[in-house]
Amino acid sequence: MRVGAIFLVVLMISGCGGEAASTAVDSAEPTKTYQWKLVTTWPKNLPALGTAPERMAREIETMSSGRLRIKVYGAGELVPAMEVFDAVSQGNAEMGHGAAYYWRGKLASAEFFATVPFGMNAQEMNGWLHYGGGMELWEEAYAPFNLVPLAAGNSGVQMAGWFNKEINSLQDLKGLKMRIPGLGGEVLKRAGGEPVTLPGGEIFTALQTGVIDATEWVGPYNDLALGLHTVAKYYYYPGWHEPGPTLEAIVNKSAWETLPPDLQAMVKTAARMVNDDMLAEFTARNATALKTLVEENGVQLRRLPDDVIARLREVSAEVLAETGTADPQTQKIYESYTAFAIAAREYHALSEQAYLEVRD
Ligand code: CA
Repeated sequence: MRVGAIFLVVLMISGCGGEAASTAVDSAEPTKTYQWKLVTTWPKNLPALGTAPERMAREIETMSSGRLRIKVYGAGELVPAMEVFDAVSQGNAEMGHGAAYYWRGKLASAEFFATVPFGMNAQEMNGWLHYGGGMELWEEAYAPFNLVPLAAGNSGVQMAGWFNKEINSLQDLKGLKMRIPGLGGEVLKRAGGEPVTLPGGEIFTALQTGVIDATEWVGPYNDLALGLHTVAKYYYYPGWHEPGPTLEAIVNKSAWETLPPDLQAMVKTAARMVNDDMLAEFTARNATALKTLVEENGVQLRRLPDDVIARLREVSAEVLAETGTADPQTQKIYESYTAFAIAAREYHALSEQAYLEVRD
């Protein structure tokens, strides 16, 4: 009798256990796998810019034990570079990687989520986006396009670019055909130049064949990879037009909403990782690449003249203020960006900047 009762209890317990286990197995979420496509605005495997989304995809696959697999496509493999935003918005790819300022024709506020001339550097952009309300504004701005934005990379301060003649005065900007995207291009235009927007993969040929006289790209590490030193002699600094561009990962909102919370958290974490990692990679590689360019390839380094910088700064303020009044939403973003930038600048004057001035 007693043995029988114990046996029955054991059966009941194991019965419950079995039921609990089968409930877990039957639940669709933990075992469901996702196959996504990620399209980029970058040439396939371009150092840092192109390898960052690959790294992000690998991390997500590892973290999720293969539940979310993302295949990365370089510019032109699935869609052209400048169609990444639309492709992800429409769901032809679930994810994209690029820079918000490429989409300024679709929404005026996009520039503020990448970089603006004489604006915030990488450290300040990260502060604004993650602790200053920037991400919330970005999400709001992209929601009508069925997109979820994530900060996913930063190049740090860029170089002013490659020129086939010296820039000694404002006069030298007149009629200068230069590849320079975003508001930087608008500023150049008002200073007398002729801005051109071209994706990375088309810059080399355009400069080589004389379609353009000058180009900006990123900095020594990426510019060396693109071979720009073989088609222009003068390498100018500082990158007034792109002081700390944030790169973006965009996710189709409908696809995003099909992911369970743990996979969403992994995508967010991987983007945040790559956002920091890219800046570390550029910091490590730019210095050695610049040495190679100057010492082994005879590149002529030049600083933009003070009066040219002063004029560009003056025009930038006008262009930014105008952009800020494009529509009520852009105005809100402009005001948030500007208030954060002023506060960061004041503090950095006596922290980062003061330190850089005294350390040498
Ligand atoms: Ca650039």
